[in-house]
Amino acid sequence: MIEIIKEKYRQFQKWQQQPYQVAPMSEETHQCATCGTQFQGNFCPRCGQSSKIGRYSFKNAFLLFLDVWGLGNRGMFRTIRDLILRPGYMIRDYLQGMQMAYYPPFKMFFLFIALSLLVETGVNIRMEDRLQVAQEQFSEGMSDSHAKEQEETSDKDEEKKELLTKIDNVSDRVYDWTMKHLGLVSMLGLLLFSGPLYLFFRKSPAYPGIRFSEFFVAMVYSMNMVEFYSILSEFFCLSMVLEGCFLMLIVIPIKQLSGYSYWRTLLNFFLAMIVFFVFILAAIIAVFFLISLFYTS
Ligand SMILES: [Zn+2]
Repeated sequence: MIEIIKEKYRQFQKWQQQPYQVAPMSEETHQCATCGTQFQGNFCPRCGQSSKIGRYSFKNAFLLFLDVWGLGNRGMFRTIRDLILRPGYMIRDYLQGMQMAYYPPFKMFFLFIALSLLVETGVNIRMEDRLQVAQEQFSEGMSDSHAKEQEETSDKDEEKKELLTKIDNVSDRVYDWTMKHLGLVSMLGLLLFSGPLYLFFRKSPAYPGIRFSEFFVAMVYSMNMVEFYSILSEFFCLSMVLEGCFLMLIVIPIKQLSGYSYWRTLLNFFLAMIVFFVFILAAIIAVFFLISLFYTS
């Protein structure tokens, strides 16, 4: 019994590493319904119309409906399946040129962010606006902590109180802005973090000489995988802690792509995080230094 499971797992691993295979072309000739050209294959060489277009069916209509949002037929479902079952190997295949087989990474990124906002603001099993709840909790927490601070400083000057309300307003505004530009903010965060991460993966055994641009695309696909799981959990209104755990899954694609062991991948992540925080700290200190220079002069 254990042997059978082991054998199945071996077969699964082999399947994981094998690139997607396009079905062989049929010998059948088609006549294009638009321009009348006779041809073999899936698309008319003259005008580009698909040879599969025939009578309308529900499947056809559904695909056209998806096409409105640019989902169409470009391997969306294959991409999601592969992001779940073989993310790192799929990213390797994409980077090595199999671009028609997979949904484009950046498009998917913004699509998932839009979908996630939709799910968070009501399209879930409880029909609840979870973003609103989170925001209320956030501003409550902020005003609580400030109320405490204000109590403590009640006999001090009014100026400080004013400053605290100002900080409160700014933090509220920052929160709103971040929520409105979630795609941009997460893309920037990803770009910043993939810098230090690249330092530790640029000499990967399974993908030697990977470029930063390629590594960044790999990170975008990996985040798409994480985002897919978190959209699912948001839809079923699972706990927010779980969503944090999904972020840990990012080691799976990076491990598969780089060819390092899980431990080595985790270690590299940890080291990159240290570099990242040192960098952020240095940036904050630099900003404070500049501000103090500005005020003392
Ligand atoms: Zn044609």
